[in-house]
Amino acid sequence: MSIKNNFCDLAFEPINGLFPYQPGKPIDELQRELGLDNIIKLASNENPLGPSERVKKAIQNSLNDISMYPDGNGFYLKKALSEKLGVNADMITLGNGSNDVLDVIARVFLSMGRECIYSEYAFVVYSIATQSVGATARVAKARLPDELDAYGHDLEAMGKLVSEKTSVIFIANPNNPTGTWIEPDQLEQFLKKIPKHIIVVLDEAYCEYLEPQNVVDTTRWLQRYPNLIITRTFSKAYGLAGLRIGYAVSHPDIADLLNRVRHPFNVNSLGLVAAEAALQDDAYIDKSRELNKQGLQQLANGFEKLALSYIPSAGNFISLNVGEKAADIYTKLLHEAVIVRPIAGYNMPDYLRVSVGLAEENEVLLSALKKVI
Ligand SMILES: *Cc1c(COP(=O)(O)O)cnc(C)c1O
Repeated sequence: MSIKNNFCDLAFEPINGLFPYQPGKPIDELQRELGLDNIIKLASNENPLGPSERVKKAIQNSLNDISMYPDGNGFYLKKALSEKLGVNADMITLGNGSNDVLDVIARVFLSMGRECIYSEYAFVVYSIATQSVGATARVAKARLPDELDAYGHDLEAMGKLVSEKTSVIFIANPNNPTGTWIEPDQLEQFLKKIPKHIIVVLDEAYCEYLEPQNVVDTTRWLQRYPNLIITRTFSKAYGLAGLRIGYAVSHPDIADLLNRVRHPFNVNSLGLVAAEAALQDDAYIDKSRELNKQGLQQLANGFEKLALSYIPSAGNFISLNVGEKAADIYTKLLHEAVIVRPIAGYNMPDYLRVSVGLAEENEVLLSALKKVI
């Protein structure tokens, strides 16, 4: 006997319109599929240096703790972050990656009938988190390809979408997958105009890669804009993507709300000690930023030689225009043992996003590209 159940009819309606997040192809998977060796993955904006020695030692020293639940309040990591950032520990919310924090924000501030605003080409998790809770996304047109800051957030267009239903605005700075970056002055002008009952999420996943002279300490803005939530991660420059750890900095009352919804042990014990150790390793971050700067230049020069246009990036990745055969070029690159990221899902079907690797990895990518285009 078979019972036919249309589970889609049983699901919370908005879930039917969702598609699973498409991660970069794992190296193991390509190895299984094509039997290739020496695969290079430049698809998920990971730090090509691998974890810092300090982090590895901290993890080794904590291996015996994994039979115990982690500290659900992340006391020591929050303390370390609080000292590093100069904010009170009660302003910090830890997450299983900053994706987790974004999801928690959506669950606290969005619901059916409420609206959020983000830009075209903005990080896809905003749309997933929004739709998961049945809220409505209002997507602002990005800057046009021939405009200054092409593909970047158009804050004016975003501001125009504010309605009485708006509860949350998501801004990625720098944005993924475009690599575009909004200057702090412009951003602050925008914050000034947004009513204080609307939560503004500033996603700074790539802030460590910015040139130090361009960096403004946005946590200082929390005094003036209590509706601001800043999210950051240990997945990118800090080299801990596999451990899943990120955080939000906000007004303590917002942090309190986020902590009510957050899963009790959302950050694991190795992640906690690794992040704490990583915060102490400024030299690793400096090295990562420098390596990235050189890599961006190397890739940009290489793309120019191949007459490929690209979007100038403030992150650790570049999106380049390879034309309408992008999907085909992606597959051909896989056969050359190079994994990059197609971004057709972002409505950028002509583009591939490549993460900045080690100099030799960038070179392999450029040679493979030259071969397949
Ligand atoms: C990678 C990324 C994140 C963070 O991912 P986690 O690994 O969950 O911390 C957040 N925002 C943007 C824009 C990203 O590219």
